[in-house]
Amino acid sequence: MSTKRMEIVQRFVDFAEGYVHSDGRVLKSDEKQTMLDILTEAGFAPTDLIPGVLTGHYRDEDCRMTGQTFSYNSQCPFRMTGDDSADEIEATKWLNHVFVIAANKERSARTKAERVNVIVAAVERSIPLEPIKLTSDGDFLVEHNYRPGLKDHCTDENGLPSVIGYHKECGGRMKFLPTRPNCYVAVCESCFLRIEYPTTCQTYGDLRAALAQN
Ligand SMILES: [Zn+2]
Repeated sequence: MSTKRMEIVQRFVDFAEGYVHSDGRVLKSDEKQTMLDILTEAGFAPTDLIPGVLTGHYRDEDCRMTGQTFSYNSQCPFRMTGDDSADEIEATKWLNHVFVIAANKERSARTKAERVNVIVAAVERSIPLEPIKLTSDGDFLVEHNYRPGLKDHCTDENGLPSVIGYHKECGGRMKFLPTRPNCYVAVCESCFLRIEYPTTCQTYGDLRAALAQN
């Protein structure tokens, strides 16, 4: 595990433990930087953090708003914004999630060392699979929902499933086709981009290394 990642998480836990929210309290610049650092480490691209609660709306079966609302970040009242200052819901939810752990607000208490380890794991799970270059024209393979957040993302160690991922440029599913004896083939279901790779490829890391040779 990288020392930098550990240092960022430890700094975040120190901050969250000591943070007492009161209306009107302004974040110090180092406190804000600590939250921006952990968001960046988890794969997000924050441009700013704004004090305040991000409100969501409950919807009925037909997706109509019921009029009832909820808060995405009731424990950590800061909203992450991204490009064009828009609210980033997934990032705000993720920050609230790790803040609850860091500040020891879960039902079962953990030691500080345990909380640091749990949050390091949450950071690592949030980071999407690095897109894999498929062609020299700049086509990439990405995993489903390749935005960071509260989801287990693939890593280079993961085995290749039958739908190996999504063609980033058109959004189509890339499906494995066992058609040839000496190589594997994956085809995009949307634009029919076709790639071949050696049968020795068992993981995303293998695939990345094999296609880098092209
Ligand atoms: Zn495609």
